[in-house]
Amino acid sequence: MKKMPVLFVGHGSPMNAIEENQFSLKWKELGETIERPKAIVSISAHWFTSRQRVMNNVNPKTIHDMYGFPEELYKLEYPADGAVNLAVRIQQLLGEECILDSSWGIDHGTWSVLHWMYADADIPVLQVSVDGNASASDYIETGKLLNNLRHEGVLIFGSGNVVHNLGRVDWEQEKGFPWADEFDDYIKNAIIQKNFRDVVEYRKAGKSADLAVPTMDHFAPLLYCLGAVEEDDTVQVFNNERVLGSMSMTGYLFQ
Ligand code: ZN
Repeated sequence: MKKMPVLFVGHGSPMNAIEENQFSLKWKELGETIERPKAIVSISAHWFTSRQRVMNNVNPKTIHDMYGFPEELYKLEYPADGAVNLAVRIQQLLGEECILDSSWGIDHGTWSVLHWMYADADIPVLQVSVDGNASASDYIETGKLLNNLRHEGVLIFGSGNVVHNLGRVDWEQEKGFPWADEFDDYIKNAIIQKNFRDVVEYRKAGKSADLAVPTMDHFAPLLYCLGAVEEDDTVQVFNNERVLGSMSMTGYLFQ
């Protein structure tokens, strides 16, 4: 079986779920061009938990975990099947510390992008949480354990943002603040050189790192993805833009 890619997407504002723009159109194109997966394992910034959890719902509900957006967004459903057997397989790979959990569903980190990639919601989806107790290098280690799944037709999909500072969002600002560009570039250069150590040690970027990653939730999905990358994977950078001052839309496709 052909090896599946690893895909990290910067999801940005929930409005990208319903706005046809350069970012969402790229997601749509990715859905059309990458090998069709048998199932999708999504590591979403929006399922931030104590300990490592994997979702084992048969019919996961669509979770509208955002506030103050237009009605249309709350009506959007993503009725993909869950993947119960795959959840058990992931628990085997990650070990007993990983908890099967049916309390969550498909959150907007996942559906705002998959709704463009696979509009028919006809591929089973499960989410792997971001473990709030783990470190940056732990995320890489967990990603390594998920790597096997790429050889079983599964797409490893991370959804977050390399730069994500809601406290500094400026709705009047079209591009990124200089520190946002600086940090996004630091990460991009490290990834292109396959120097993932520099991504784990992102604090080395200095002040820009403090501003870009005030909390781990949106950065961690990238680290899980990097763990699943193999030596001979090529990397493609897409949606290489900063928006609203303090958010990066940059995504990475490894295959
Ligand atoms: Zn988000």
